[in-house]
Amino acid sequence: MIKNGHTTAMGTPFDKLRFDNSMLRELPIDPIAENRSRQVRGAFVSRVAPTPVNAPRLVAYAADVASNLGLDEADMTQSETAEILSGVRLAEGMDPFSTCYGGHQFGHWAGQLGDGRAISLGELINADGQRRELQLKGAGPTPYSRSADGRAVLRSSIREFLCSEAMHHLGIPTTRALSLVTTGDTVMRDMFYDGRPEPEIGAIVCRVAPSFLRFGHYEIAAAQRDLKLLKTLVDYTIKHHGSELGLRPKDGPIELFRSVCLRTAETIVEWMRVGFVHGVMNTDNMSILGHTIDYGPYGWLDDYDPSWTPNTTDSQHRRYRFGAQPQIGHWNLAQLANALLPLVGRADPLQLALDEYRSVFQGQYQDMMRRKLGLADYKASADDDLVQAVCASMSLTETDMTLFFRCLAHLSPGHADDSDEAILAVVTPAFYTPDTITDSIRTQFVDVLRTYLHRLGQQAEFAEQQRIDLMNANNPVFVFRNYIAQQAIESATDGDFTEISRLLETIKTPYDDPLVPADHKGKRPDWARDRPGCSTLSCSS
Ligand code: AMP
Ligand code: MG
Repeated sequence: MIKNGHTTAMGTPFDKLRFDNSMLRELPIDPIAENRSRQVRGAFVSRVAPTPVNAPRLVAYAADVASNLGLDEADMTQSETAEILSGVRLAEGMDPFSTCYGGHQFGHWAGQLGDGRAISLGELINADGQRRELQLKGAGPTPYSRSADGRAVLRSSIREFLCSEAMHHLGIPTTRALSLVTTGDTVMRDMFYDGRPEPEIGAIVCRVAPSFLRFGHYEIAAAQRDLKLLKTLVDYTIKHHGSELGLRPKDGPIELFRSVCLRTAETIVEWMRVGFVHGVMNTDNMSILGHTIDYGPYGWLDDYDPSWTPNTTDSQHRRYRFGAQPQIGHWNLAQLANALLPLVGRADPLQLALDEYRSVFQGQYQDMMRRKLGLADYKASADDDLVQAVCASMSLTETDMTLFFRCLAHLSPGHADDSDEAILAVVTPAFYTPDTITDSIRTQFVDVLRTYLHRLGQQAEFAEQQRIDLMNANNPVFVFRNYIAQQAIESATDGDFTEISRLLETIKTPYDDPLVPADHKGKRPDWARDRPGCSTLSCSS
């Protein structure tokens, strides 16, 4: 009904949705209406209109996200929908805003950050009574843009759109993505940070989540020493998102914090299960609901290497490397605890929750590895050794983590009497350079596999098919490998979006081998080994 501020006669498919903008209603609003970069104090939300784009085109959407919101195929393919999903037009009930947050970036307090290129169109309540915030990423400058342009390019938008959906179908808590729109405008980006910016295709993803609140929202209120502001946000969070966090209405900041610790542990265990590396675990990229959020220079392990990070900005210290994620989760939660401390008044309960994060993480990690290895139960210290030995074996020679665990399901206690060669052959498809394997590596690898076989032999009560099913339900065939993303990006940049459509299908059944096409389940090909985008990425997006 409203064309970016101007009422028009035509309706839109979104008009029928029930918007309920609780953030604007219940949190302090920035009193300045002007859209220029500034420090905002004493408020969490700034009303801001998306800056219209030239020629919006809907190139992909996630049908199940649409249907969860109450939108069907006919709604999604109307021309007004592309206009809404690019910020050109607003529907009835939408009231766009950006939010104020701070954050610790790479271990240091960075002050105010905020939604520099994210504009929420509003929050709706779906048919199941669930709250869903619709947020455009790349819809133009906001008061939090600092000196940047508020835009996003096609390559990073494809990565966010497909990866958040891939994560969802892998069963990992994440923000969702409704749509991917190209804007018809170009955006200048210095992709390699080498002083040579080039025009790129502009794009906007519409993200969907119950809330995009981050640790940084609580941190900025604490940094401003504004207890009232902080309390308002904590109360708001418990009131509107408490049930999602398993809280009761009378719970307060301690219970909230404890729940965030548990959710964060669960999500990071899941990242470790599938070889996902977030890449930029700054506290402004940590969801209060424990969702995976802000898909930037993330990556997936091809060959198993706990010291790997996809983020070139972090290549020296590797703060956010795969193996450090559990510990970084703890560090980030400690920053949230510091922010909440003035409200709680004493450190003990927060410290207790932080300690609980460690023990819960450990227990869940063990259980996750139990399922990956197909064990009926986990015998604390003996199986810790087994897990460690299996992980160490993958580092003996370049071993594809995803393929390795799928191969492992083919090993059965019956193999115990087989030759070393026959046993190693079961996992050889996971090796990147089988020709370089020395006798010593072969012996060590076979030793570990025999230990594993011996362990399987101890669980006679666990039917073979049951074990295989357990493993295959926890070890994906398909993960959204960096080179797969890059191929989709390269063809989309040439105007061909068919690979994106194919991937939208593949990501739905990541554990179901027959349903994953051959070219989506192979190892990383050799040409992709060191190619930008296929191995590592810069933050430029
Ligand atoms: P990120 O590293 O993507 O999590 O972003 C860190 C901060 O920079 C956030 O406050 C973003 O909103 C902001 N930011 C990143 N890219 C842009 C951009 N192109 N325009 C405005 N703000 C941006
Ligand atoms: Mg971010």
